[in-house]
Amino acid sequence: MLPIDLRSDTVTKPSPAMRQAIANADVGDDVIDIDPTCQRLEKLTAEILGKEAAVFMPSGSMTNQVGVRIHCKPGDEFICETGCHIYNYEQGAFAQLSGIVAKTVEGKAGVLHVDQLRGLIRPENDHLVRTRLMCLENTHNRGAGKIQPFENVVAICDWARDAGLRTHLDGARLWNAAAATGIAEAQWARHFDTVSVCFSKGLGAPVGSALAGPKEMMKEARRHRKLFGGAMRQDGIIAAGALFALENNRSRLKEDHANAQILAAAVREAEGLSLWPEEVETNIVIFRVEPKLARAAEFAAELKGQGVLSLAIGPQQVRMVTHLDVSEDQCRRAGQIIVETAGPLAGGKKSKVALEPAY
Ligand SMILES: *Cc1c(COP(=O)(O)O)cnc(C)c1O
Repeated sequence: MLPIDLRSDTVTKPSPAMRQAIANADVGDDVIDIDPTCQRLEKLTAEILGKEAAVFMPSGSMTNQVGVRIHCKPGDEFICETGCHIYNYEQGAFAQLSGIVAKTVEGKAGVLHVDQLRGLIRPENDHLVRTRLMCLENTHNRGAGKIQPFENVVAICDWARDAGLRTHLDGARLWNAAAATGIAEAQWARHFDTVSVCFSKGLGAPVGSALAGPKEMMKEARRHRKLFGGAMRQDGIIAAGALFALENNRSRLKEDHANAQILAAAVREAEGLSLWPEEVETNIVIFRVEPKLARAAEFAAELKGQGVLSLAIGPQQVRMVTHLDVSEDQCRRAGQIIVETAGPLAGGKKSKVALEPAY
């Protein structure tokens, strides 16, 4: 039987209908002038986000890094949450590529409150970097898909604007936040100068992200996309997959959230496992494995032996993500396997999986 792949919502493969849309895409040279399919995608993305314009890019790391770069010059600083993607999972590209530094503030499962930020903006002084930008992430990846409370977002963005800072939202999974809350993407986006979104996560496209914002900023973004090596020629081939995803796969994200609840219920039932945080809000489930059971990597390997793929994201932390290529039935089966794997280990059975000793 095929494994149930819960490692990430990036593992989805283009459906036959999406492949058809890709095969039929009308294309042009997007560097010389325009690619018509990419132009349609950028227009629709901007519309959904309530922004003037959008720029298509090959990855969310690039949309974030271009976003940070158009708001900050070398020697500037941005504020972000300690566990955010921009700071942790993009090789510090803001430092490597742009000479920008980050000021991190620790949230609760990725959630920040405006009171934590007051006083962080540096005064004008030749000794100091200049604080220019506030970044938020919604939903929060390391926070197990946690949704930023809307009122926190508004308060933080209002504070940032009053303080003269620009604002950027890493909305790789903003679609999930919108589906879960009923607060439309544009409602979230209107509080930020720029918003980055991914088509290749829960929406199921093979490639692509976009940065959206005011026209003038998107002109700058286009320049920096070229600078970072992301200007593409007949990009309608990949934009067609993203366009198909945007038009067809947003409304079904609630199914992924319901399936994540099935996994969460199994974790609650299983011996020696505990959800972190306790409530699952969207499509990401993170749980802690008690050390007496196994290490996270061992537990993930046990699950893999039973046909369930997950990711060990810390010494005792396992992550599972639901998406359009796993069905409700598969999630029920995965849940059963979680419970049946944890039970015997909690009862003292040794993990069969031999791993290198950890030092
Ligand atoms: C996946 C992700 C990104 C972008 O990742 P790429 O692999 O570069 O496309 C950015 N932010 C968050 C929160 C993500 O989960």
